[in-house]
Amino acid sequence: GDSDINTEIVVLGSGPGGYTAAFRAADLGKQVVLIERYSTLGGVCLNVGCIPSKALLHTAKVITEAEETSHHGVSFGKPDINLEQLRTWKANDVVGKLTGGLAQMAKQRGVTVVQGVGKFTSPHQVAVTAADGKVTTVGFQHAIIAAGSQATKFPGAPEDERIMDSTGALALADVPKRLLVIGGGIIGLEMGTVYDALGSKVSVVEFMDGLIPGADRDLIRPLQKRMEKRFESIMLSTKVAKIDAKKDGIHVSFEGENAPKEAQVYDRVLVSIGRRPNGKNIGAENAGVAVDDRGFIAVDKQMRTNVPHIFAIGDIVGQPMLAHKATHEAKVAAEVIAGHKVEFIASVIPSVAYTDPEVAWVGVTETDAKAQSLQIEKASFPWAASGRALSIARSEGATKLIFDKETHRVIGAGIVGVNAGELLAEAVLAIEMGADAHDLGLTIHAHPTLSETICFAAELKEGTITDML
Ligand code: FAD
Ligand code: NAD
Repeated sequence: GDSDINTEIVVLGSGPGGYTAAFRAADLGKQVVLIERYSTLGGVCLNVGCIPSKALLHTAKVITEAEETSHHGVSFGKPDINLEQLRTWKANDVVGKLTGGLAQMAKQRGVTVVQGVGKFTSPHQVAVTAADGKVTTVGFQHAIIAAGSQATKFPGAPEDERIMDSTGALALADVPKRLLVIGGGIIGLEMGTVYDALGSKVSVVEFMDGLIPGADRDLIRPLQKRMEKRFESIMLSTKVAKIDAKKDGIHVSFEGENAPKEAQVYDRVLVSIGRRPNGKNIGAENAGVAVDDRGFIAVDKQMRTNVPHIFAIGDIVGQPMLAHKATHEAKVAAEVIAGHKVEFIASVIPSVAYTDPEVAWVGVTETDAKAQSLQIEKASFPWAASGRALSIARSEGATKLIFDKETHRVIGAGIVGVNAGELLAEAVLAIEMGADAHDLGLTIHAHPTLSETICFAAELKEGTITDML
């Protein structure tokens, strides 16, 4: 046709959704063009999301663990933090290795990467504008939209580099003396954990009455307790009324019963109040793809938009905005285009906050069960009775399983504690496989491990637990 490049499949955006779809489609023998505005592949997750945040959280954990070993007789000095080196490690040894690996994998598979901002110009063409203004048109038979999301801005906040989103916070320009985190969700608490360990006095303001509103309160309590000890303040049910950028700092005034009466001055502010999809920036209307008011694109179980040859995956199709949801949707889209009869039918999608302690949950929560009057039974095993938890000096955790009252099958799980994110995987598999309390309780778990707490919770429910540390 009249395009510079013609291909079977065009993928717009190279995050976990986009690169997975492109690679899967190429592996299925399709000709693929992958469009990405930035010079590295990997999207938010690899460049400015999941991965760099976990690198900094690792550093934070090393620092706080070293601090805390003084309680058992081993003391280290105050950490000597070389920010430049920390940034270089994060950028080169962690992020760079992964994004470089993606570029290589794209090459190996014969996926053509076109760099620039892509916009649909018709139902069968995308125009890609490079940084130098050069436009490349790509004609396609099928498209997969994987353009992701961006941080929501705080309405009315002034433009000032000290008022950051997660990307700014991950850039680690300095360690502010006093940091305000607006939004007590996952990003705010993960980045708050990092800056607290590096030496900032961290305050969190959240307008709901609890941190991470989506998780059960019993799972949040140990996290909140620890944060209350370490952080300067956690202001719940509190609104930010005004933000002024002045020479001496960012002046913030609050509204709410527990709010400080006077405006507070912070060296930096992190705005982490959610993310919004990029659906309005891709010329979707030129392709006839329906985008809702907020910028989300609706899809069916095969990830197909209202236009039958155009698919959408990842953050842009809705909650939860998680990398592992995007990758699974990506495979479905690629396989459907290749003619496979598949659907996205994950029965559950796990959530993990990589805070300290971590909070992880999957499936039915107790809050859901109450709201929907589900007939459930629950068993919660306190880590204070786990030999392993005690021996790592972190016994504040808990492992909770939620069972269907009739079938005794596991339908939900929540874990708070060190490594909760890793431990949750067993419960996710149990739910997907339809395992019941008996299955988990009779499975021999190695002792002493934190993974035993899942077995113990199942035994608690079965009434077969003995005193066992
Ligand atoms: P994205 O990763 O957003 O990728 C979209 C890509 O499309 C981007 O590279 C963008 O540049 C490109 N693009 C957009 N529009 C265009 C256009 N018009 N032309 C060309 N290119 C375009 N999730 C987890 O599961 N675990 C975590 O630990 C986790 N941590 C996070 C930490 C932070 C700080 C943040 C911000 C997010 C985190 N997330 C985490 C969420 C995760 O990053 C997203 O769910 C995931 O990246 C979504 O993947 P995606 O493919 O839908 O889109
Ligand atoms: P979020 O929706 O998780 O949390 C935002 C928080 O800000 C909520 O608690 C909300 O009540 C609060 N809030 C909203 N407006 C506010 C206001 N004006 N003042 C005070 N509080 C306000 O969003 P996020 O933390 O920005 O994360 C965005 C997305 O990125 C999420 O969907 C999350 O799934 C994803 N993410 C995931 C991980 C992970 O899986 N570990 C890590 C980071 C981000």
